[in-house]
Amino acid sequence: MSADNRRSPFEYSPEDEHLAGLSLEGARRWIDPVVSHGRFFRARRIVAIAMTGLFFGLPHLSIGGRPAVWIDLANRQFLLFGLTLRPADNVLLMMFGAGLVITVFFVTAVLGRIWCGWACPQTVYLEFVFRPIETLVEGRPAIRHRRDAGAWTAERAARKVLKWALFAVVGAVMATTFLAYFLSWDGMVAAIAAGERGTWIAAAAVTAMALIDFAFFREQTCTVACPYGRLQSVLYDADTLLVGYDAGRGEPRGRLEPGESPRTTGDCIDCGRCVHTCPTGIDIRKGLQMECVACTQCIDACDDVMDRVKRPRGLIRYTSQRELASGKRGFARPRLLLYGVILLAVYGAFWFVLLGRPVASVEVLRASTEPYRVLPAGIVATQLRMRFTNHLDREQTFGVVLVAPEGSELAGGAEPLVLAGNAVETLTIAVKTPQKAFVDGRTTARFHIQSDQGLKADREYVLLGPYAE
Ligand code: SF4
Ligand code: SF4
Repeated sequence: MSADNRRSPFEYSPEDEHLAGLSLEGARRWIDPVVSHGRFFRARRIVAIAMTGLFFGLPHLSIGGRPAVWIDLANRQFLLFGLTLRPADNVLLMMFGAGLVITVFFVTAVLGRIWCGWACPQTVYLEFVFRPIETLVEGRPAIRHRRDAGAWTAERAARKVLKWALFAVVGAVMATTFLAYFLSWDGMVAAIAAGERGTWIAAAAVTAMALIDFAFFREQTCTVACPYGRLQSVLYDADTLLVGYDAGRGEPRGRLEPGESPRTTGDCIDCGRCVHTCPTGIDIRKGLQMECVACTQCIDACDDVMDRVKRPRGLIRYTSQRELASGKRGFARPRLLLYGVILLAVYGAFWFVLLGRPVASVEVLRASTEPYRVLPAGIVATQLRMRFTNHLDREQTFGVVLVAPEGSELAGGAEPLVLAGNAVETLTIAVKTPQKAFVDGRTTARFHIQSDQGLKADREYVLLGPYAE
């Protein structure tokens, strides 16, 4: 993937070929990037504030008295801005998931790793929360390294304790907010206040994971653990937007000599600032690399250098592989058209199925392990469960009538069932069927279900019974 076509592939040293975060022996090499406060950094900070506000704010948002976003595993439902999806909505859930995947493909093909650099929680919290806390308490990387290289002092210990205390507080707030997406905010607060053991353990575990990730694992989550970066090679094409170094303009690189005029080398003065500012420790001048999260820090660093040496900005810039190679940019290409058509089809089908979704769903399920019981007077009793799901936000009243087999009757479930908006309830019912209705040990029960909100549905269930003698 390298755009640096001035060297043969055989010229790369082992240093070039392994992760910047590892030494040649495979040990961790700590990366402490120097922040470049350029225009992209300022824009990213605004996005980071918005994304943080979204993450912490969403669990407090309600629609119709219910959380706007709630992955309610306990009740097997997913609330999304007023829409409730349950396992019975598996087609909708599949289309929703497929839509997300194709959207990722589409956005990546056009804008590259814009998500990674600007909006991913890993980047946002590491670069705009944890690192700033570290810098605030322990100073810039150079100062921190100097202090850490010396002996332990009271000041050094105090700074470490303060940093980890602040990390722990932020981690705990993140963890409880994260749990609120699964328990609802009120449910999470109630469980914590009531000392519910499971919730406390979950909160502690998520806090620990946040600390391990943001305080220790850091950029390795992007360079080693995250599968998205690995997909770059298949999702990118020649016109995908990327952060790239203009080798044609920058090479041959060379130090700026005092009084040198005109310059005998390219625009890159080999100052290394693009490397020192990179949170994954790579050198963008080696071309597109999987470790690049498109954070634009090297653009800000190099633009500042170009300003100082009075050269045009953009030696490192948002560009594409085609533009770097030929100076031309392209947008329309077949894969975008294909993604667009698939996206339209998937989201169109999603809305079609959603709008055609009945006002309620009813499932008939077996109730016990005993398939049937023969009662006196030749009656066969079968216990069943009937699960009602109200898809509306308002109350709905259901009635059930057993229409077949002839002579059978319903015991339980004959009374109207009143179900609150979006509620799910399971009734246990018994069907009493004359033994003569069974042919070869089976007969079919047919239920007619109606609701005051317009549901008219028939459900069948095969009843097992004794064989005729
Ligand atoms: S910051 Fe710019 S000038 Fe400095 S080494 Fe990187 S590409 Fe070259
Ligand atoms: S190469 Fe540049 S854009 Fe890529 S991760 Fe490093 S600093 Fe960010």
